[in-house]
Amino acid sequence: MKSTWACLIAILCFTTHLTEIHAQPRLNDDGETEENQRTIANVSAIGQYPPLPVPFFRGNDPRFTNSQGFYFHFWKFLLVVLLFLLWAKTSSWVDEDSRGLKSNTEFWSSAILVAGGLGFLLVFCMPSFIVGFFVLLLAYGTPLGFYIHERNAKVPPSSRVMTPDHIRNLTIRYLARMGIRIGGTKTQQAAVGPDIRFIGKSSTGRGDDPTSSRRVENSRGFLAAKELVYDAIMRRATDVHLEPKDDEVGVRLRIDGVMYPTEGFDRSIGEAVLNIFKVLGAMDITERRRPQDGSFRAIMPDREIDFRLASQGTRHGEKMSLRILDQTNSIASLSELGLRKQLVDKLGTIVKQPHGLFLCCGPTGAGKSTTLFAALHEIDSYQRNIITVEDPVEYRIENVTQIEINQKAGQTFAESLRSILRQDPDVVMIGEIRDAETARIACQAANTGHMVFSTVHANDTFTALYRLIDLEVEPFMLASSLSALLAQRLARRLCPDCKEPYQPNPEFLKKANLPPDKVKCFYRLPKSREFVCPTCSGLGYMGRISVVELLEFNERMRDMIRDASNMSQLKAQARKNGMLYMKEEGLRLVVKGITSIDELLRVVK
Ligand SMILES: [Zn+2]
Repeated sequence: MKSTWACLIAILCFTTHLTEIHAQPRLNDDGETEENQRTIANVSAIGQYPPLPVPFFRGNDPRFTNSQGFYFHFWKFLLVVLLFLLWAKTSSWVDEDSRGLKSNTEFWSSAILVAGGLGFLLVFCMPSFIVGFFVLLLAYGTPLGFYIHERNAKVPPSSRVMTPDHIRNLTIRYLARMGIRIGGTKTQQAAVGPDIRFIGKSSTGRGDDPTSSRRVENSRGFLAAKELVYDAIMRRATDVHLEPKDDEVGVRLRIDGVMYPTEGFDRSIGEAVLNIFKVLGAMDITERRRPQDGSFRAIMPDREIDFRLASQGTRHGEKMSLRILDQTNSIASLSELGLRKQLVDKLGTIVKQPHGLFLCCGPTGAGKSTTLFAALHEIDSYQRNIITVEDPVEYRIENVTQIEINQKAGQTFAESLRSILRQDPDVVMIGEIRDAETARIACQAANTGHMVFSTVHANDTFTALYRLIDLEVEPFMLASSLSALLAQRLARRLCPDCKEPYQPNPEFLKKANLPPDKVKCFYRLPKSREFVCPTCSGLGYMGRISVVELLEFNERMRDMIRDASNMSQLKAQARKNGMLYMKEEGLRLVVKGITSIDELLRVVK
């Protein structure tokens, strides 16, 4: 491609040179050269002392530079140069566009190059500029017109070019970039897209790379990418999945933990969108099979959002998932988790203890880290030294040292935990306890005056306790360090504007141990789906609430763990202390009308 350009520029220079040789000095209206006229003027002044030949110049006389020595008509030449630049730009667009659409790139590129090259040659050789320029326009426009006609037939109406809509949008977009806004908000949005700005990551992963953001701005699918991300954020989605299929790229959003399919993309646009995200995330766009990950940021008028990307080759092509980390959605305190007041108070006292071990358990996506972050927010980070080790860091907290480790690269939680204990922390949060070593160091830390927070992958509190004992932590170590275990799930809240009351089955109430006289009604999703509720956009649910089970350890229970008593004895003791199982806590939410019974049974088995 580059060599072709060099060749063309050489042709242009050569033709310029040729015309220079054949050019004649200009004649004025009477058909005489300006030189002759000056001689005549001198002759008419006979008898007088000839004036000093003042304008004496060595070399080129500046008075004549515009007539002699410069043989081009300025405006005509400018016109040709401008057309040349336009031709260069469109040729590279055709090259890129036809590659994206899998058209015959070689054919179209060479047709446009050869025809254009000939046109430029002719404009300098033709005796009449008008005819030459007309021929040039024809040579430039004809293959381009055919190409546009062919590609427009292939793509959906929204991505056709040179249609009245496209030209109007292009104008609005260029004017908007210069700060000039025309048309209403709707026209603006159709042309410039929603108000969201992407900021790419540099290839090192640290810091921003403004060039990648600029690179994607003019690529195909940029508007579609902007709209997709904006729509996902507006719908409160936490993940966006781009999944290639036979002839399209499917899009699914995860909202409140449940996947919803939405409108997909035409295959070529979908792939362009995927490439835009890869460029922003500093990922290798030529690698389409091996898994890759990356990240970038987006700025909206009222907030800043982080994105984590993961791509992976599948049978149909490359799949990508975008995790949306909206800092405004992060929970700032325990009271925002939606727990009843009694539990919030209990948790508050536990997490503010000077030392101990507080563990959150539940499956992936049950909100364990959100709870731990809420707990960390309760602690005065100015007076106490808080250090976290995460894989990866998802939410930033002020005044807390957050360390990111990469388990795939061989870093382990155990190793980092041991090293951060040398940093004199008061409070330590560690992403997950998965192996014996981490469990042992966490217990040791808790016993030596640190408050330790972590998560365990287990379904409920007693299973988590089993897991710890299974990891061969000494029972006396465990007994003296454990403060509390919290198991949790996230249930979707019913939309307050469209939930529907109904009379629960009395037998069910009896089975669930609920007094039938006290429970007036339960709530559920609206039966009729004709009316789409604007609050929840017809989903019926809006946000999520934690359903928890808190197991606190008192002296009696510590003794039981030390003596390796069996679980049923422990359970009985915990119930005696007033512990409620997760299902019971959840039923309270159902009775209050916060969630539905179906939803509770979905998340708590
Ligand atoms: Zn609703």
